[in-house]
Amino acid sequence: MVNPKDFLEAGLQLHGHKCPAMPMGLRAGAAAMNALKVERAKDGQLMALVELGEHHCATCFADGIQMITGCTFGKGNIKKLHYGKFGLTLIDRQTKRAVRVVPKAEAMQATRPRRFLLNIAKGCAGFTGAARGRTAPRR
Ligand SMILES: [Zn+2]
Repeated sequence: MVNPKDFLEAGLQLHGHKCPAMPMGLRAGAAAMNALKVERAKDGQLMALVELGEHHCATCFADGIQMITGCTFGKGNIKKLHYGKFGLTLIDRQTKRAVRVVPKAEAMQATRPRRFLLNIAKGCAGFTGAARGRTAPRR
């Protein structure tokens, strides 16, 4: 059983900052791996199809997927589908089985008001949406 908490510290090291989307990628990857009953890919055993677009948070989601599944852009076993969604399809190449995981709407909503998103809204060129017009809370 893959536990996303076991990969959180390494995920933070890989990703570089604390945000809600990278851990969501860890959780989605763990759910897919546990459904398929597979281990982290050392080589090309797994293939990940990430439905993200180009905005900041979606990219963060993909780092969580890379960290926990072992599917990396370097190995060529992760692909962006550019659907603009936080979805993941994980394929076990040996058994030819696949599973699609999409975070629940409640989980997505819970990430919106986080201080991180409010603080980056002004500075991230690719960031759009409701958070852009908000101001970061003063300390
Ligand atoms: Zn991030």
